[in-house]
Amino acid sequence: MKQAARKMLLMTPGPVPLDPEVQIALAQDMIHHRTPAFDQVLKSVLLKLKVVFGTSQDCYALTCTGSGGMEALLVNTLRPGAQVLCINSGKFGERWAQMAKVFGAQVTELVVPWGQAVNLNRLEQELNSKNFDLLLTQACETSTGVLHPIEQIAKLTRKVQPDCLILVDAITALGATPLPMDEWDLDGVVGGSQKAFMLPTGLSFLSFSNRAWKLIENNPSPRFYFDIRKEREANQSGQTYFSSNVTLLRALEWVLNKILSQGYPHHLEVIKNRAQWTREVSQWMGLATYSQSPSPSVTALLTPCDSQKLRNHLETNYQLVLMGGQDQAKGKIIRIGHMGHISKSDLIQMSERLYLGLSDLGVPLPAQSELSSLQKKLDLLQL
Ligand SMILES: *Cc1c(COP(=O)(O)O)cnc(C)c1O
Repeated sequence: MKQAARKMLLMTPGPVPLDPEVQIALAQDMIHHRTPAFDQVLKSVLLKLKVVFGTSQDCYALTCTGSGGMEALLVNTLRPGAQVLCINSGKFGERWAQMAKVFGAQVTELVVPWGQAVNLNRLEQELNSKNFDLLLTQACETSTGVLHPIEQIAKLTRKVQPDCLILVDAITALGATPLPMDEWDLDGVVGGSQKAFMLPTGLSFLSFSNRAWKLIENNPSPRFYFDIRKEREANQSGQTYFSSNVTLLRALEWVLNKILSQGYPHHLEVIKNRAQWTREVSQWMGLATYSQSPSPSVTALLTPCDSQKLRNHLETNYQLVLMGGQDQAKGKIIRIGHMGHISKSDLIQMSERLYLGLSDLGVPLPAQSELSSLQKKLDLLQL
């Protein structure tokens, strides 16, 4: 294939490729956020977010990156000197624990080996060791591609410590895998725009349970930008606490309309199929799945060569952008994202370019002719 004809393929677990219609929505004229036209957009997205969160609670859209959303969950629910149990299974778990420490929490870290989901027996032991005010966990730990068993984590926590709030960083899970907040009895959930919500970076989405709200109302801890009580007040009068991110919220309305018009379960099925197929085709190329509990939103693969070298080679020579690993996984894994605007032909292209890249680096591979039969399997999947 000629270099010029090759489309740049962004297959990272955030940022993700944008739908052309989203790009058009992003290019529209600016309108003021204190207008009936914008009120309509805000009302509509806050209502539709409830479907994705699986909640009857109000949802919030804040102008900040995902980490800002994590901070918003924390500062509203963290009382001075609170005891916090944090599941740390990778880079984002590390960040969650560090953040809680910065805000003065007494943090116990349940360190999970990279590539594994949390062990529920160990979690039970920790929960029995002392009283915790908050449990912090990722739903999907993006740095390792692990999906944690959130429903079981919540059940167990509720059984051992009924009053402990369960806060979930679902930034690569909400919108990509089922996470019904009310049904699983979660107290705080955060999602992010440049991940499963298929937009550029800049918004995060939150919701809190009634149990969390009782604490939030009387929490003496300081907060200003992320004071969710003020956000709620503003939303009730059709506004946001600070200037609204008009552009992203309009694009979000398009994304939510698309997801809901196809049905949310269908949307999740498509992402799951992309991930399953990617694991199959990668295994065929000799790349084992790194995570023992793989998430549908991101696939981490062990590479038989230096993964950093492979990444650079794919980017420079094949216009395929994947992520590598960090810290202990650096040079060992590549990570492929399954969120965003990804077509069947993008998946075919991805597999072809990955094959060629591996081959260039001298990795022994099965015959390329077998690849097309794997690619044909895509015809049988909902994509
Ligand atoms: C991307 C991500 C975040 C937040 O990252 P930002 O750069 O602040 O948007 C947090 N947690 C997880 C699991 C993520 O994947």
